[in-house]
Amino acid sequence: MNKQFPIEKFRDLQTPFYYYDMEVLKRTLEDITNEANKYNYHIHYAVKANANPRMLSTISKAGLGADCVSGGEIQAALKAGFSAEKIVFAGVGKADWEINLGLDKNISCFNVESIPELEVINELAAAKGKTANVAIRINPEVDAHTHHHITTGTKEDKFGINIAQIDKVIDKIDALPSVKLTGIHFHIGSQITEMEPFAGLFVKAVELERYLSQRRIFLENINFGGGLGIDYKHPNSNPIPDFKAWFEVFHKYFPARPGQRVHFEPGRSVVGQCGSLISKVLYVKEGAFKRFVVLDAGFTDLIRPAFYDAYHKIENLSSDETQDIYDVVGPICESSDTFAKAVKINKAQRGDYIALRSAGAYGEIMAMQYNCRKLPKAYFSDII
Ligand SMILES: *Cc1c(COP(=O)(O)O)cnc(C)c1O
Repeated sequence: MNKQFPIEKFRDLQTPFYYYDMEVLKRTLEDITNEANKYNYHIHYAVKANANPRMLSTISKAGLGADCVSGGEIQAALKAGFSAEKIVFAGVGKADWEINLGLDKNISCFNVESIPELEVINELAAAKGKTANVAIRINPEVDAHTHHHITTGTKEDKFGINIAQIDKVIDKIDALPSVKLTGIHFHIGSQITEMEPFAGLFVKAVELERYLSQRRIFLENINFGGGLGIDYKHPNSNPIPDFKAWFEVFHKYFPARPGQRVHFEPGRSVVGQCGSLISKVLYVKEGAFKRFVVLDAGFTDLIRPAFYDAYHKIENLSSDETQDIYDVVGPICESSDTFAKAVKINKAQRGDYIALRSAGAYGEIMAMQYNCRKLPKAYFSDII
């Protein structure tokens, strides 16, 4: 049994629900801020990973900024206490109302992903008599060696501006009176567990900077995005990602110039390990040639296995009996509603509590109501 979970306190709660270990979140936030402070790096938490209000306010209190990809995320971040000057706004399809919101709230920067978008930001800023700070999101053509649904920085992807178009984009910014170039932005993908793709990224950044300095352009801000992975296999022994190694490698190979600010936008690595989806076994069912554990949680509560073939460690919190092999499935009327096939968990019976671990990122926020299901609630270890 995993003693981290207060299952006696779960008895009155309706499953499935998200359970956040606030001690793990606190230690993660302490670690990332300590490591980032060594190099004066600026951290913007990627709100899309988890926008639960209590999580957001805990993260903003730790001093992080916010990376938003929609107007709704800007509103959620402001409400949770993030200051506008620490909010950056990325996204390939920013709607006019979202750009206007960013302008009205004086967010620090728009990460622009196309020339038509630049023109619209310029026009909307001009109408308000403002100047918008923009950073060019570069598609660096670096393969993050991660699942193809979560790679964002290759030629195939819709994100960012191709390096070959950089002159055209800079000429455009020069010609537009209400936008000001303040930096460049990259984000190559997610769940990156080796440092090598990041190495490809700063090589591109160094080259680009050298090229731009020939045009006498000095970049005040360089933003390397997010993407640091977590250890889905070993959430108990490895709860905190290696922020030290991540920042060290950038510090070693990307020497920031005096006055230049280096930014990161981690999402998963901040919130992934502190969250679990807690559900109950409804039935243990004998199939034709295998045994199913049918949970009351489905992909409507945690879509990552169905969406990305993602692995989540599954633990039976109620049983110490020897392990057995099961397919662990949900109740949704789709075959893809399967959390794992042929996994070993402690022998299960109806009513057992099952934890799907490492579900703090891209879990609760992606929940949906398909099959007219209720959205899962969230509970926190310190106030349960
Ligand atoms: C999703 C995203 C992030 C965060 O990615 P993680 O893999 O969760 O760290 C950062 N920046 C941008 C622009 C994103 O779209």
